[in-house]
Amino acid sequence: MIQTQLYIDGQWQSPIDQGTRAIVSPADESVIAQAAEATRADARLAIAAARRAFDGPWRQTTIRDRARLLNKIAELIDRDAEKLAHLESLNTGKTLTESRTDMGDIAATFRYFAGLVASESGAVNEAPHHVISRTLREPVGVCGLITPWNYPLLQAAWKIAPALGAGNTVVIKPSNLTPLTTHHFTQLVAELDLPPGVFNLVTGGAEVGAELAESLDVDLVSFTGGAFAGESIMKAATGNFKRIGLELGGKNPNIVFADADLDAAVDYALNAAFFHAGQVCSAGSRLMVEDSIYDAFIGRLAERLPRIVIGNGFHGETQMGPVQSAQQHEKILGMVQAGIAEGARLVHGGKRPAGDVYKQGYWLEPTLLADVTADMKIAKEEIFGPVITAERFRSEEEALRAANDTPYGLAAAVWTRDLDKANRMSRALRFGTVWVNDYHPYFPEAPWGGYKASGIGRELARIGLDEYTELKHSYINLAPKAMGWFGA
Ligand code: NAD
Repeated sequence: MIQTQLYIDGQWQSPIDQGTRAIVSPADESVIAQAAEATRADARLAIAAARRAFDGPWRQTTIRDRARLLNKIAELIDRDAEKLAHLESLNTGKTLTESRTDMGDIAATFRYFAGLVASESGAVNEAPHHVISRTLREPVGVCGLITPWNYPLLQAAWKIAPALGAGNTVVIKPSNLTPLTTHHFTQLVAELDLPPGVFNLVTGGAEVGAELAESLDVDLVSFTGGAFAGESIMKAATGNFKRIGLELGGKNPNIVFADADLDAAVDYALNAAFFHAGQVCSAGSRLMVEDSIYDAFIGRLAERLPRIVIGNGFHGETQMGPVQSAQQHEKILGMVQAGIAEGARLVHGGKRPAGDVYKQGYWLEPTLLADVTADMKIAKEEIFGPVITAERFRSEEEALRAANDTPYGLAAAVWTRDLDKANRMSRALRFGTVWVNDYHPYFPEAPWGGYKASGIGRELARIGLDEYTELKHSYINLAPKAMGWFGA
């Protein structure tokens, strides 16, 4: 049985009140680990350690030291990639193939930020000859990093790499449903003999996250998760006007025009919606298809859905695992029922698959709800499960209006062979990422984040590093002379 601990001030330790939480396999509901469940008191210790480390010698590290650190972490991730991928699949239920891809992306993220950090240099500004004016980038300070359960280590990496790379100290709080890979990652960091307090792990629930958001000793909070927690973090952050980054949910339209390559569009419509059983913030669960091809498109999806292999993520033939928790399972089934009650047509799925192996665990069939209209709850709210809702549209204008008519703005996709239309739609869709004739790719080099209620700020790319820095104007007068302005 795996047992996890907290990592505070360079020491592995149990929570002050000895709290633990059983971590359950989504595939069969067996207990796979006992995780340390921290409280606010533990979070305060971690924050204090991070504060001391930031105010101490860590500030003297050079960009070379920090670039080397990130590259070293990437090497350790490569070394333990198989172990980490197993833990991620065990804890989240996702297929091993997906977890292996995550680990490759995580190592790439650390290497990308290592390169960026190494190339970082301040600017010397034009100024009078007796003045040295420089623009300097400095770390923000103590960073509280709060991550969700769907991509536990990937989301952590998007935050940890730039935070450490920019010279900050870190307190990370993974979701208390999925702490295992972040715990193993911390073991890797512990191999590196960083000064105590530079990197701290506090596993626990909302109260630990809330402490990070409220603490006057935390300078920045970067959060990935749902709108409810995001809102409370934003409010709490006003206590010391700490910097915040919020990566929130999405309601992401996947828009298929009649002139698209339909073989590819059908195939990717499944990938967009059922990757990681739809538990992806950018999942293309809101399918919008042009009227003239709508019925044929739904027919082609209906043929494919029963062939999707649902199973344990460790089995090689599995294409889709379970959803992560009992709560998600119940919520998704509730959303499907709400859709049917509002008049959507259930084409496939909407229930637990038949068979003894699916009796335990949080299994769902891939689900297709057709004849959905833009006013239905299932077209407006994030479902976060293996469900496609399919709407019909008659014109480019109608598709655009309906797609943008959502409080969210994370990701969208457009399928067409008409380059002019592709460009028009790319520009007019109010989403942080717009794919054309593809779905899901992201790169460390490209920014990730949402418009509107999908969040504040961006991760990845240069801006993903800049968010962890303060910009300073340093002005040095080399030859001060009295001005005689006042009362001379
Ligand atoms: P969640 O909001 O329930 O929890 C996220 C994290 O916040 C967890 O660590 C949780 O313990 C913590 N938390 C909960 N309440 C808190 C509070 N009041 N103060 C501080 N911390 C608190 O989200 P979740 O269910 O773990 O994740 C799913 C959500 O995350 C979905 O909405 C999904 O779209 C979103 N998400 C967004 C992105 C993105 O890049 N935009 C990526 C992944 C997931």
